[in-house]
Amino acid sequence: MERIDRTYSTDVKSGDDKVKVSGWVHEIRDIGKLVFIVIRDRKGKIQATFKEDECGEELFKEVKNLGKESVVEITGSVEENGQAPGGREVKPDEMVVLSEAETPLPLEVSGSVDSDLSTRLDERFIDLRKKEEFDIFSFRSKVVSGLRDYFESEEFVEIHTPIISKGGAEGGATLFPVIYYQEEAFLRQSPQLYKQMLMAAGFDKVFEIGPSFRAEKFGTSRHVSEFTQWDVEMAFIEDQNDVMDHLEKGLKHLIGYLKENASRELEDLGIELKEPDYDFPRIKFDEAIDILEKEYDHVPEDPTDLDTKGEKLLGKYFEEKGKEFFFVVGYPGEKFYYMQGREEDDMASRKFDLIYRGQELSSGGQREHRIDVLHKAMEEEGMDKSNFEFFLQIFKYGIPPHGGFGLGVDRLVTKLLELDNIKEGIMFPRDPNRLSP
Ligand code: ATP
Ligand code: MG
Repeated sequence: MERIDRTYSTDVKSGDDKVKVSGWVHEIRDIGKLVFIVIRDRKGKIQATFKEDECGEELFKEVKNLGKESVVEITGSVEENGQAPGGREVKPDEMVVLSEAETPLPLEVSGSVDSDLSTRLDERFIDLRKKEEFDIFSFRSKVVSGLRDYFESEEFVEIHTPIISKGGAEGGATLFPVIYYQEEAFLRQSPQLYKQMLMAAGFDKVFEIGPSFRAEKFGTSRHVSEFTQWDVEMAFIEDQNDVMDHLEKGLKHLIGYLKENASRELEDLGIELKEPDYDFPRIKFDEAIDILEKEYDHVPEDPTDLDTKGEKLLGKYFEEKGKEFFFVVGYPGEKFYYMQGREEDDMASRKFDLIYRGQELSSGGQREHRIDVLHKAMEEEGMDKSNFEFFLQIFKYGIPPHGGFGLGVDRLVTKLLELDNIKEGIMFPRDPNRLSP
């Protein structure tokens, strides 16, 4: 038999005399002597019309028995048809059923039945067959490309550091233990310590895209137990502003990149991205607290952090000024590895958060590279220094001032696409109640 290559539905044109379309049976309309089926692939849909008196008894019988969501391959010629999707349809010569779908389906793919998120996630492989889902994840793939595009052009080196580690950087309470041969180890909460080691190694500018894990009992629409972090670290910085500059420029580049390279996805998903043509405001933590108190009569319970409501209100405050992105700098009571505020700073620390549309998107800052100060900070936090010997080593033999940030890719995608829940931007999300699929 003659071998012909598969054509995506969107590339099929009327007048083609022999095409092969392959995909899932999206719709079947059986009106007796005529059966219409709509085939769906990742790019779109195409109709094939089977006429009893034209396609032969055997083929006609086969198409009559076909169930929705079966996978088929149809070969035929293409004709114009104003009523068919895309204005053309396949006149089949041949059909091969590659895989039959059982009925009933656990989840509707076509039709207008909207299932709740939890049911959709239970049946995720079917849920992901929807075009909108493909568009979300195709967009997500381009988010990663767009960020990579910026950081590579700035001579950052992509790195891959361990997921399994001896201790955690973000505190013991949120660690997932794993059994590592005969000893207990943990899934990383961030690649923090390794990025810093590479600063001691002279790598200067690095980035890593990888999973991080937090064993918290989250019940929010912005937390998951496993998430993808975009991590950056750079050396020979003056202060945290050098780091914030790259984060800001990277995001601006990304949005321009997406408008150019993901315009199809954005249009189909009904999203219009605004390019941030302003300098991201950089306000001190104390100023943020002042705004919350004066403008909204809101005082966060924890005096060292902005609560969810505080972030939202500040988001509103800046959005009214046309600014969806802004930095808050100088958080008090920060983790041991951040540099505390120095005399000239008039701030508690050199740690910042980037807030986008009222939600934390990234945290970063200048790190402490002076070993005596680090020892003191770890003691004050009551940390078991024996777990961090390999880390403390790096500050003994020459390490430049450095800083970096971690940015949540899942949150970024969720916010850019205006999705309600972070899990909608993750293919197979993990949360305290979901370890499968
Ligand atoms: P939050 O205060 O919002 O819980 P965090 O300050 O604990 O976040 P960081 O340690 O600063 O988080 O991590 C850097 C970034 O990684 C965050 O700004 C966020 O975008 C993302 N991130 C952190 N934890 C999670 C999580 N559990 N689920 C999804 N994304 C997360
Ligand atoms: Mg943070």
